Amino acid sequence: MRRSRALILIVIALLTTLMPVSAAAAESNFLHAGFREILPNFQFVEDTQVMYEWQDFHEWDWQRVDTEPAQFGYTESAYWFLFTLEGDPDIISDAWVRVNYPLLDYLEFYLIDSNNTLISKYSLGDRYPFDQRIVKHPAFLIPLEDVSGDVTVLFRVRTESSLELPLAVISDHQLWSSMESTSWLQGLFFGAVLILGVYHILIFSTSGDRGYLYFGGLAAAMALIQATIWGRAYEFFWPNSPEWNHVAIAALVNFSNFFGVLYVTKVANIQHTYPRIYIISIGISVVAGFMAICSLFLPYRLMIFPTLSLSLIIFCIGSIILFLRMRDRYPPAFAVFFAAAMYTLGSAAYILGKLEILPNSTLLENALAFGLLLQVMLFAFALSIRIGMERQLREEAQIETAHAKDMLLETERQQNIHLDKVVRSRTKQLEEVNERLQKISATDALTGLYNRRYFDESLKREYARAARNKTPLSVMMIDLDHFKSINDNYGHVFGDEALRQTALRMQDVLKRPGDAAFRYGGEEYVILLPDTNTSAARIIAKQIWSAMRSSQIFHDDQSETITVSIGIATVVPSPNGDPNKLLREADHKLYRAKEEGRDRICV
Ligand code: GH3
Ligand code: MG
Ligand code: MG
Repeated sequence: MRRSRALILIVIALLTTLMPVSAAAAESNFLHAGFREILPNFQFVEDTQVMYEWQDFHEWDWQRVDTEPAQFGYTESAYWFLFTLEGDPDIISDAWVRVNYPLLDYLEFYLIDSNNTLISKYSLGDRYPFDQRIVKHPAFLIPLEDVSGDVTVLFRVRTESSLELPLAVISDHQLWSSMESTSWLQGLFFGAVLILGVYHILIFSTSGDRGYLYFGGLAAAMALIQATIWGRAYEFFWPNSPEWNHVAIAALVNFSNFFGVLYVTKVANIQHTYPRIYIISIGISVVAGFMAICSLFLPYRLMIFPTLSLSLIIFCIGSIILFLRMRDRYPPAFAVFFAAAMYTLGSAAYILGKLEILPNSTLLENALAFGLLLQVMLFAFALSIRIGMERQLREEAQIETAHAKDMLLETERQQNIHLDKVVRSRTKQLEEVNERLQKISATDALTGLYNRRYFDESLKREYARAARNKTPLSVMMIDLDHFKSINDNYGHVFGDEALRQTALRMQDVLKRPGDAAFRYGGEEYVILLPDTNTSAARIIAKQIWSAMRSSQIFHDDQSETITVSIGIATVVPSPNGDPNKLLREADHKLYRAKEEGRDRICV
């Protein structure tokens, strides 16, 4: 129920918004002070063929005008009107006949005295250049100053606009005072709306937001429509261009339709919420734009009906959009609705004033303009709400983007840390494997001692180091005695075990970190003793020799004592010395030990 009432309000509001032409014509034909009594004899005749001559007016079939103001809609006929003024000649000659509907094309006035003679004739209408008017004023004014008694006022009206006739007979004083009061209010209204329009178009040119352009165009078109209806545009902007003035209303209404429908779609933000209605609206705006251009070239008569039909369609679409968006609780839609309501109130106050239901005043006379001004201002307000919301959304999106970026960076950082860890652990594993490989390649599998290959490297290194440090380096060669017969008597497995246990006994004896034992090959061992002179080397040799002698080699249930022969060589190397010479010397000493009977040390 409440919704349907809101809908009715929207319909009324938009109807009055989109059809300012009919609303503005609500001027009445009240006859002002002193002339009220002539209303009953205000009569008209329709001249469908436009063939009547004024002299024959007595013979026509006159009918009473009983609507206020007289209205005949769009017609191709000519209409004749007639009334007589009787009374004080001084009052009559001080009066003006005023037709306050500036869009009428042609008016021919005949002032006829009681003897049926023509006093004067006036040709008026907005198809004549404005500059030719007797009084430079938008309304059509006939002076009665030449009248010296009772007078019959006969006039013919032809127009392509709707035929409306807000007629008044007013005193000279009333004329000038009403001109003053209306002109400054109209100027105020026009200036305010036009400035709003131009201002927003300028904002568009710097911000690039098309909402400003639509509103600016709409406000400017509305200001010009109102100025044209008042006849002020003709008076000030194009007083010598009746041809343009004739098509101006149709063109301007089309332009306001064009901008209006774009404005509503933009402010209501329906592009994504109601995409189908959005597409329809854009289609209608294209039609309106096309018609605006057509109406600059095609006759007013041809354009006015399509124009008003399109206005009606736009009004329906606008109502639907507003209704849907208010149902969505979309704030700008309420502002637009409120704006339309302001204009409706203005129109209502104006009409009530004219009907004298409300006491007439200058304020009420211009209620329509005030309503329109308020409406335009609220339209601007709606637009600013809409654009503010858009900006807020944009800012929120920016913050979200920044947040997402931070999160992305953090994830990347975490991934890098993880990657770093993985790489480091892989490197460590590789290093370990490498180390193990190196150890394997430097180690003898049977005894666990360093092998011959590693000995060659070590000998060179320790020889060079000793040369640098000028310290003695001793090399000891050890060979098991009669090992062939051990193998023969106890088997190879026992022999291997003997080689292993001998290695362990050597390692027990070697305590200094720099000392190292190697399996040189077969049952031969070699020991490197850096920073060790001959006597120190002999002590170590003695310990190994006695370790071998003092205990047997055990394996399974077999045991045997194995002795060794040891040869020792010592040198304080010179930088160019030959390490192999040292080794050969140790080997030589070993050979001597064997020759001298084995189981001994030879230095
Ligand atoms: P000596 O040195 O006292 O002159 O006599 P020997 O019997 O030890 O003489 P030789 O050096 O000629 O013999 C070495 C033997 O050591 C030959 C080989 O069968 C044995 N042998 C060499 N390597 C291994 C090994 O890895 N395991 C076993 N079980 N025996 C080995
Ligand atoms: Mg041997
Ligand atoms: Mg040997």
